[in-house]
Amino acid sequence: MTLSAQFTPCSFSQARQQLQTALQCITATEIVTVGTALERFCAENIHAPVNVPAFDNAAMDGYAFRAQDLNNHDELTLVGTALAGHAFEAPLKPGQALRITTGAPMPAGCDSVLPLEQAVLENSTTLNMRQIPIHAGQHRRCCGEDLTIGTTAIEKGRRLGPAELGLLAALGMSEILVQKRLRVAIFSTGDELNVAGHELGSGQIYDSNRITLHAMLTRLGAEITDLGVLSDDPETLTETLRLSAPQVDVILTSGGVSAGAADFTRQAFQRLGDMHFLAIQMRPGKPLAFGRIPHLTGNTYVFGLPGNPVAMMMSFIFLVRPALQLLAGAQFTPVPLIQAKATEAIYKKTGRTEFQRGNYDFQQCQVTPTDKQGSAMLTSMVQANCILVLPDEQTNIVPGDTISVVLMQGFV
Ligand code: AMP
Ligand code: MG
Repeated sequence: MTLSAQFTPCSFSQARQQLQTALQCITATEIVTVGTALERFCAENIHAPVNVPAFDNAAMDGYAFRAQDLNNHDELTLVGTALAGHAFEAPLKPGQALRITTGAPMPAGCDSVLPLEQAVLENSTTLNMRQIPIHAGQHRRCCGEDLTIGTTAIEKGRRLGPAELGLLAALGMSEILVQKRLRVAIFSTGDELNVAGHELGSGQIYDSNRITLHAMLTRLGAEITDLGVLSDDPETLTETLRLSAPQVDVILTSGGVSAGAADFTRQAFQRLGDMHFLAIQMRPGKPLAFGRIPHLTGNTYVFGLPGNPVAMMMSFIFLVRPALQLLAGAQFTPVPLIQAKATEAIYKKTGRTEFQRGNYDFQQCQVTPTDKQGSAMLTSMVQANCILVLPDEQTNIVPGDTISVVLMQGFV
């Protein structure tokens, strides 16, 4: 059997589907303080242990009163003040009102607040309520209106961002159960690779993939082990995979997985694991290896990404990243696509999914592909602010056609 015969041709959506169905959460859980839980994945459904807010309170600075009193009273008598953090404990009698500040508990029986700026004071203790439009319950925040005790505040698998952390704090929670960080080992492969900071020898290039991968994994919240650059030597590759597999949840490599003569990563994978080699109808990023290496304490997932830097990034962004999120216990969140009008004609071959680099104009909602589109040209990624996602069935694009794009800011 030739090496290339071992590839399974498939469409981009088949590859994505295959990864999604093969993978589930593999990380254990741990308790961390809410203050340190940014970007972690919540490991259980959080039910509100209290009502938010915990008591009826004023939504504005003004005067608290009982709406039904206005049927019998044109004027209300001010009998005191309630401040945020300082309740006015005595219940009000009919015809009485209270100065109140935003967030102060509503006194017993009061259901409404007259905003300060609408108030007409006869004297220091008399509020004139004539001809002021009122609706019962105005400017009052009700107990539990934000979150009712027992309802789901945050779902399992939710990424914890600033708002989620704030909500947990608002519920009085100082700790939370999260998935442990996914432990990921990375290495680059290729005899031609040199490390930045060293002088290039003949035929050498600098290894950029490892740095890019490290950065993308950092944004995913992974715990990264950098195994450096490995030469195109099946023994070294096999040994590194064998030794590192029990230490991590996932191994990500770049290079050596296509059908070239020196594609030894694939051979090493084959020796150790239960692997799939996909020839995906996508551009860039056609070859992808994935599978599992069994070891004494379980299985380690392995993804072999293409060597060309842009191809590597596309495979990571659109296939490996969602896969890692599933392994890490995250809710599945599809890549966020928006629609944009093409400013120029774009050549597109049907039967494959193309990921072109482009610039989205936020004013005009238009997109223009970058001049350079080569899969080895990282400048196309640096110059772009978005990726055009052109599906299999898409034909050549004419100016004005609507296409899907993914904004890279904060995502890639
Ligand atoms: P390969 O998939 O190993 O055949 O590599 C395809 C192309 O990507 C070749 O031109 C490699 O030199 C280049 N390449 C592979 N690995 C890296 C890397 N880590 N950084 C930059 N370029 C790479
Ligand atoms: Mg190579």
